[in-house]
Amino acid sequence: MNNWEENVRRVVPYVPGEQPKEQNIIKLNTNENPYPPAPGVKEALVSLNTDLFRKYPDPAADALVSALAEHYHLRKEQVFVGVGSDDVLAMIFLTFFNSGKRILFPDITYSFYDVWADMLRIPYERLPLNEKFEIVKEDYVRENGGVIFPNPNAPTGALLPLADVEEIVKKNQDVVMVVDEAYIDFGGVSALPLTEKYHNLLVVQTFSKSRSMAGMRIGYAMGNEKLIQYLNDVKYSFNSYTMNQTALAAGIEAVRDVAYFRETTQKIIRTRERVKPQLRELGFSFPDSRANFLFVTHESCPAKELFEALKKEKIIVRYFAKPRIDNYLRITIGTDEEMDTLVEFLRRYLDKPNERKKG
Ligand SMILES: *Cc1c(COP(=O)(O)O)cnc(C)c1O
Repeated sequence: MNNWEENVRRVVPYVPGEQPKEQNIIKLNTNENPYPPAPGVKEALVSLNTDLFRKYPDPAADALVSALAEHYHLRKEQVFVGVGSDDVLAMIFLTFFNSGKRILFPDITYSFYDVWADMLRIPYERLPLNEKFEIVKEDYVRENGGVIFPNPNAPTGALLPLADVEEIVKKNQDVVMVVDEAYIDFGGVSALPLTEKYHNLLVVQTFSKSRSMAGMRIGYAMGNEKLIQYLNDVKYSFNSYTMNQTALAAGIEAVRDVAYFRETTQKIIRTRERVKPQLRELGFSFPDSRANFLFVTHESCPAKELFEALKKEKIIVRYFAKPRIDNYLRITIGTDEEMDTLVEFLRRYLDKPNERKKG
């Protein structure tokens, strides 16, 4: 090995779900929204003045920050925006998790947390979910350098009641605590009001799921002005111009169309609730998801086998070959039609266990 290689920051990168190039597939593997963004988004992009592209964008992303502040009844100083919530979360790790003490997150959770922690040399401890895949709030009462978990949790879909979130925050007021609410708009109760009372709490959300804009890359954090100020200081020391003109224009329109947002999130919730009993009837069990996905296991058919069978049928879901969850599939809630195709295939496939084994 050459000497320079001894000094490389070696990392094991996060592996996102695949984005197949093929047409005619039913893509239920990365929790994207099956509905298009709000109509105003397209109009804003079509009429965007490209002369804007000559100039640098507003480093403070003021127009988007203002739209979010107005929507959530906050002051602008309480909102931080980034290139997807992945960018926002990475900034949070970099800015706040510097005590040298271990940060805490669940053992089964968003698989980017340990990747950021490893990259930034932040020590961490993974606290096991209970056998029902729930966060055990009592476990979070111990010395630590910060706390983070998604609510609803990913990939389980389980929602921690707000009272339990508050109990965890209450016991951790000397560190920065982060609730990653990527899926909160699909029926959860946001911890945002708690940020008024707990000045160490950050609530992180994204346009990728409930606002149908994974491809536009917009995420945001909300919390006390001091936290937001510290985040902006780090951002301006790293890359000031993270939010480009198109993302700003599109993002503003998406936030403003509250009616469309309600309509599409409600539609996904209705589809999810309709599919739950159908899957149960086929022998699946799962945590009671409040997200736009279901985390399912079957009583007799191994998840890996189902994953492959679905893939052959051009239905792509997510399989994690990881301890405790390697017999589960995470299935994104698609349109009613897509979910009907999925359920019909599963019904046929699971109905013929003998043929299945031979095949
Ligand atoms: C999807 C997701 C994110 C990141 O989404 P972005 O597209 O980067 O905004 C963050 N946390 C969780 C738990 C997610 O599932």
